[in-house]
Amino acid sequence: MNTAELLHFDRHHVWHPYASVIDPLPVYPVARADGVWLTLHDGTRLLDGMSSWWCAVHGYNHPRLNEALRAQSEKMAHVMFGGLTHEPAVGLAQDLLQLAPQGMDKVFFVDSGSVAVEVAMKMALQYHHARGERARTRFATPRAGYHGDTFHAMSVCDPVNGMHALFSGSLPAQYFLPQPPIRFDGEWSDDAMQPMRELFAAHGGEIAALILEPIVQGAGGMWFYHPEYLRAARKLCDEHGIVLIFDEIATGFGRSGRYFAAEHAQITPDIMCVGKALTGGYLTLAAVLTSAEMARTICSGEAGALMHGPTFMANPLACAVARASLRLLQENDWHTQVHNIETALRQGLSPARELAAVADVRVLGAIGVIELKYPVNMASLQPRLVRHGVWVRPFGRLVYVMPPFVMSEAEIVLLSRAILAALHEEYSL
Ligand code: PMP
Repeated sequence: MNTAELLHFDRHHVWHPYASVIDPLPVYPVARADGVWLTLHDGTRLLDGMSSWWCAVHGYNHPRLNEALRAQSEKMAHVMFGGLTHEPAVGLAQDLLQLAPQGMDKVFFVDSGSVAVEVAMKMALQYHHARGERARTRFATPRAGYHGDTFHAMSVCDPVNGMHALFSGSLPAQYFLPQPPIRFDGEWSDDAMQPMRELFAAHGGEIAALILEPIVQGAGGMWFYHPEYLRAARKLCDEHGIVLIFDEIATGFGRSGRYFAAEHAQITPDIMCVGKALTGGYLTLAAVLTSAEMARTICSGEAGALMHGPTFMANPLACAVARASLRLLQENDWHTQVHNIETALRQGLSPARELAAVADVRVLGAIGVIELKYPVNMASLQPRLVRHGVWVRPFGRLVYVMPPFVMSEAEIVLLSRAILAALHEEYSL
């Protein structure tokens, strides 16, 4: 298939994420990806600012990850997990529990982030059911969150961004709190917790769990909020018997400057979801971690088990590549990598503040965000960014990057300059 044929068939028959089939915007054909570079069919090389949506933390085509995949594929690509087990899964569970906040003891593997969120919510429901608290069927969550595209996950996404009106009648109704109002490095005020205090006082007995993305709200707005919010939420959940779920799918594995974002607040949730960077961007795999006490209570209930079991649960290829990725994080000294990226992004992106179209610039760990005053025009900005040699995919009012951790300082300078040049053109023409 030549490139023209590929793009023609794609345009007419292949659906892309959040995309229309009616006159869709162009897509770029990638021939290969190596390190921090994507190579298009015509040979154009793009510096990757996205890590393929938070995942490819070691860059692309990594010899160690390739080798882990090859070696595992020669032993077994997959076996069912019902009644069988294997070293890639058990080893990965061991690794995860060693890295996770104190108190996590059980690991449930699933095949994607959204499904991890479904399982976490199911765990909370089964936990209360087993304890005879059957009125606790609803969830609380801050606005501007994002937890995935399956139905229960969608029900706790921001109701406006998540287009709840479109699915009303099919989506479970949840309780929404205001977006955590205080910036990561802002001055804490306990007033920020008043809405949660009031909600829990009025409806605590109906609420199974509070679910949130710790510190970094990702796809719902790329907002970084104060760690004290998490400590106060932990306390309020404890007071009201509400399970606390952390969705670390985007933040896990170093992205926010800590291995898990929960560490910014030094607290442990009752349930946590990880995914995305878990396999270094190679295969889809996620996991739900919980405490021994939660797990035992769930399994002491009527069902006697957690009622979930996906076909590709604990896929050996994905588990093997995940173990190799976790090892690489340590060997590469992820903390220094992320710290250097943070410094370089702060420097590189801050000149954007001078643009009249820019509302805010913020950086945390290896995440850089330029928030504009109005939604971007993707049809013009995306090709502009590509012409400047970078792969950055804005959404809404946000132009943001989360580069692979292996990106050098010089490359961050290139990336930042390209973004600024594209924005200057976009907003001065
Ligand atoms: N939770 C968060 C915080 C996410 O960022 C995402 C993905 N963007 C998900 C859940 C859903 O993960 P997946 O796309 O693997 O289903």
